[in-house]
Amino acid sequence: MEKSFISFNENYKEIEENIKKAAEKSGRRREDIILLAATKTVSPELINHAISSGINYIGENRVQEFLSKEDALSTDAHRHFIGHLQSNKVKDIVGKVEMIQSVHSVKLAKLIGKLSNEKGIVTDILLEVNIGKEENKSGFLKEELQQAIEEVSKIEGVKLRGLMTIPPVCENSCDAIPFFEEMYKLFIDNRDKKIDNVSMDYLSMGMSSDYAEAIMCGSNIVRIGTSLFGARNYN
Ligand SMILES: *Cc1c(COP(=O)(O)O)cnc(C)c1O
Repeated sequence: MEKSFISFNENYKEIEENIKKAAEKSGRRREDIILLAATKTVSPELINHAISSGINYIGENRVQEFLSKEDALSTDAHRHFIGHLQSNKVKDIVGKVEMIQSVHSVKLAKLIGKLSNEKGIVTDILLEVNIGKEENKSGFLKEELQQAIEEVSKIEGVKLRGLMTIPPVCENSCDAIPFFEEMYKLFIDNRDKKIDNVSMDYLSMGMSSDYAEAIMCGSNIVRIGTSLFGARNYN
């Protein structure tokens, strides 16, 4: 077996155990948490190996890269888009992924809705929250979220399914906890409002360095790249 396959197998086993432990510590079960493999820069061969090993959600970041790989990918995994999406690329991705996790503006949600309508489909979306108020990051500020949710709930062709975030890069995985807690509160507050056409099912947070902490704070989708596939090589 290829070396990259063997190290994937070892990494996957360890991550599964960590997810299970964190889920149980937060009063849930392993099945309550979705492990999404963040597959940017990973070859279709290795992605397909991951899928045949049990990974059932994959997420790509770049439209161009997704399009170049999509025909080679096993259809046995749910496909999400998790990267920054530019308006002119929306037409290339709508209908090809089950969920767009990284919706950072109402305008973008409207465009996804319009193109979904034209295809006769409804696209699931998450709203990205810029929880650390970072200037170089996209996403809604928490103060803008309420109004955005109300506006998005009225758009045909999209269904709001939850929230997603990437907290500021921290030196220590524990530093992300206050941001995760803040996200969980936003998630629960909005879930309890039971807004029409909104189904607050998913809170997508936690990556390689902090997924256990994210799960303990209430995340139910973790997006993991490096810890599964090894360090990325961008050439
Ligand atoms: C790359 C990426 C991840 C995974 O990051 P790792 O630190 O490699 O686990 C998660 N979410 C998004 C949006 C990403 O772009």
